[in-house]
Amino acid sequence: MNGNINLNILPRLTSISWNKALIEKFPFMKIDEDNVSTYADFIYSGWWSSFGLKLCEELNNKLIELGKKENYKYNDFKIIEIKEKYGMLRIYAYHCPTEITEIIHKYEEISAKTCIYCGRPAAPVKTMYELPICNECIENAGKN
Ligand SMILES: [Zn+2]
Repeated sequence: MNGNINLNILPRLTSISWNKALIEKFPFMKIDEDNVSTYADFIYSGWWSSFGLKLCEELNNKLIELGKKENYKYNDFKIIEIKEKYGMLRIYAYHCPTEITEIIHKYEEISAKTCIYCGRPAAPVKTMYELPICNECIENAGKN
């Protein structure tokens, strides 16, 4: 059991035990057999703390639901890449039925308005080279 592990917070350096706890709940986040990393490593910590687990839970519930249908299996869903692009979270995956794509798009939209550092609301970026960062984090960066 991994009862002491808080999956709500993405550690700055994830541990194998944190990764295993995540994979146990959400197998589609797995990258390698040794659990050295997971796809959570490609999500900014602010985004993760704000909606990372909600995203995983919604995907998981929908995959379980779809898996009860004859033409789709839970493990058909395979993440290819998770990254940030133009200030937004992007998730690329194989075998994405419409219901799964809708969940992914919902959280991509949310990410554009969420601070990458702290998870608080942030203004969406105006150019493709910016990242959504809230005013407080911008001010704090200026003090150092
Ligand atoms: Zn912030």
